[in-house]
Amino acid sequence: MDLMPHSDDPWVKLGHWFRDTHSAWPWRTRRTPYGSWVAEVMSQQTGLGVVAPRWQELMDELPDVASLAACHDEVLRRLWAGLGYYARARNLRRGAQHIALDRHGAFPTTYAQWLEVPGCGPYTAAILASLHGQQRVPCIDGNVVRVVSRLLDLREGTHSPSGRASTLGLLEAEIERAQEPGTFNEAMMELGQRICRKTKPLCQACPLGQLCLARSRDAVEMSPPPRPRRAKVSTPLTLLVLRRSSGEVALLRRTSGLLRDTFGLPILSRDMADTALQYLEAKGARPVAVATDLAHSITHHVITATVWTLSLRSVRALQFASDVLQIDSIEWCPFDEAPACVASSLDRKALLAASGLP
Ligand code: SF4
Repeated sequence: MDLMPHSDDPWVKLGHWFRDTHSAWPWRTRRTPYGSWVAEVMSQQTGLGVVAPRWQELMDELPDVASLAACHDEVLRRLWAGLGYYARARNLRRGAQHIALDRHGAFPTTYAQWLEVPGCGPYTAAILASLHGQQRVPCIDGNVVRVVSRLLDLREGTHSPSGRASTLGLLEAEIERAQEPGTFNEAMMELGQRICRKTKPLCQACPLGQLCLARSRDAVEMSPPPRPRRAKVSTPLTLLVLRRSSGEVALLRRTSGLLRDTFGLPILSRDMADTALQYLEAKGARPVAVATDLAHSITHHVITATVWTLSLRSVRALQFASDVLQIDSIEWCPFDEAPACVASSLDRKALLAASGLP
């Protein structure tokens, strides 16, 4: 393979296209690992147009990782208001504490080091390590998958092992040749967002157009194919609104089940619910079912949830959490603030069902 890039090389054109036309978000004006990281976390489920002013406010008030690590809940909540998914803000602060304390303020530079930062998954680790550590790790999101599927005319998309292998193979080869791996990753994502759009892609303006198999075969609309539908699975479960007398509700990081790695209400499987009921009745306490058929879907799981509310004194609540839920770290959150702290709309539906009760 010729490793010397030529100016008519479409991949070189991609770099020029990005340099000349990229969106001028404020975190790109003066790049720092701190600014890039905060922008990545803020934009995980929020549009960049909404993120930009909020990012600037956070940078003005918490200008470095030490100030973010030490900031109080009310400051964080105010700075995060309107961005949704408050659990991301808590993760961000946890990540800042890891960097400020465990790493003595030194930002990670490798992909593996970024993965150790709480709340940082493969996608975020790849973009940050490529931008600020020159690591040649491709960043793969839905936009990038769409671009590569069309370049290679992958009719099976990335839903098959061979489709995934082809996608990764192309990205790894090209990021290896790229002058700046971070720019390559950003350019691919932005190409998918602005040019190689899901519908009506702007092929005339595409710097990779001459490479594109789907375009040359007039098959752009066929790639990538829609994800095959999986058979629906019915999943009954119980959500627990566990309150203590001061009016706060128990939240925790779930470590298993459908909503694992998310922050929210304790969830009991059918077996756990039976165990919990026996345990509570033996202690003279009984939960009140305030909703018995709350419907919710997560991917192909059709959830029918029962919501229990239960008031316990703190000591008994902690005992219950460790004996039945087998967790030792619940966090108490004011009931009114809980909907903004939880990750799933299923939690919010359960909290709504339980509101108004003592
Ligand atoms: S030529 Fe069209 S379909 Fe192919 S990568 Fe570019 S925008 Fe996408």
